[in-house]
Amino acid sequence: MADAVAFPAPAPGVPVGLIDRHPPPLTTELLARYSGPCPRYTSYPTADRFRELRASDPGTQPWDALRSVKTLSLYVHIPFCRSLCYFCACNKIITNQYGLASSYLDHVLREAEWYRERVARAPVVQLHLGGGTPTFLNDGDLRRLMVGLGDVFDLPGGDQVEYSIEADPRVLDRETLDTLRALGFNRLSLGIQDFNPGVQRAINRICSPEQVGTLTEEARKRGFRSVSYDLIYGLPGQDVPSLEKTLDTVLDLAPDRIALYHYAHLPERFRAQRLINSDLMPSPSQKIAMQLAASRRLTDAGYLFLGMDHFARPDDALARAAAEGRLARNFQGYTLMPADALVGLGASAISYSRDGYWQNHHSNKAYAAAIHERGEAIFRGWQLSDDDRLRQWLIMELMCHLRVARSDIEARTGQRLESAFAAELARLQPMVADGLLVLNDRDLYVTERGRWFLRNAAAAFDTYLHQTDQPSRYSRVL
Ligand code: SF4
Repeated sequence: MADAVAFPAPAPGVPVGLIDRHPPPLTTELLARYSGPCPRYTSYPTADRFRELRASDPGTQPWDALRSVKTLSLYVHIPFCRSLCYFCACNKIITNQYGLASSYLDHVLREAEWYRERVARAPVVQLHLGGGTPTFLNDGDLRRLMVGLGDVFDLPGGDQVEYSIEADPRVLDRETLDTLRALGFNRLSLGIQDFNPGVQRAINRICSPEQVGTLTEEARKRGFRSVSYDLIYGLPGQDVPSLEKTLDTVLDLAPDRIALYHYAHLPERFRAQRLINSDLMPSPSQKIAMQLAASRRLTDAGYLFLGMDHFARPDDALARAAAEGRLARNFQGYTLMPADALVGLGASAISYSRDGYWQNHHSNKAYAAAIHERGEAIFRGWQLSDDDRLRQWLIMELMCHLRVARSDIEARTGQRLESAFAAELARLQPMVADGLLVLNDRDLYVTERGRWFLRNAAAAFDTYLHQTDQPSRYSRVL
């Protein structure tokens, strides 16, 4: 058994990433014990628990709470891409037929219309276009989308709101950057994954550092406040030296934020991944070495480690939010999420309010048919119980702030942590013994070494995970 290691609790408000940048190495025993499949907790309950739900169902529905929101977030899913990346697990459509995107946009705008009478006229404080490849839309349709959304929702101008877009550097040009900035976008997220040519060939996504560097520079010139890169470790053909070389290039380009995701190879679930040569896949121990090397390289370069997979420069809004205890997590990962509710538009999009979640049909065909028929495309969701809300809050505290205060538990439940969550603490006992968690008289917190197993700590509080036996649907922790 590995030695138990307890780190001192950081002062309140100090991101844990600042405390110990070089935690003790992980042992093979720890990996064997904790690296299995586990939810990523972008929501609680996780979306695979959602039940069939129709807008026509009688009774109160989670979207009824939209009538009293004070602030709103919007997400629009644009599923189209020009070519297939073999690692992809997103809901996407590979096509060169632009007409598909244009009629899809008609449906998204019709769906937005469905919300007109159902949402309070509350300012949108965060808008995100994701995909797929949102910049698959031409500039005219990007304008049409934003004008249509502005007709239904209150989209304030100015940079106090966060308008972000996921962009594929292979298909983004200066003109579209001009358009996006003119439409109010101020945050750009570029999908990089890896700069190594061999890895790029193995995943069918070729993109040069020069392309990314030029876009980063051009975005900054136009006043984008934050440029973020998505990187992935665990890809075919990757090893520690190649990843470190990619990171050197990334650090030269100095993005404001970096998301470093673990590649979950699930070819039995995702058809695209069957195109990956499994002989090129790194071993679990190589993946761990890559993750440790990457987090060390990024924190040594001055980035703060946030949550389980994000890094940000200390002056970036996400890092400031983490320092002030305002970091949040939603379906796009870590975010500043000050809104009361999220309306998700498009195929597979998920929405939520204080009362629960609701999700649209996944396939474009089913989505389009539903919008055509009834103006919305909801097919499943979840009405939150009081117990769900408590666990949702607790899981997000752990995932975002790596701690939960005893006083907060007592304020919410009227009980001590040990009484309110006896079974959960028993499940966490091995993590405490392994030095991944510390339970003291002030709070329960995750140590730097425990950060790798944040999902396991959160999972102890997931009622539904422990009621059924379906963990293998989730990706592995490491
Ligand atoms: S990774 Fe992005 S660009 Fe590539 S196929 Fe998936 S959604 Fe499309």
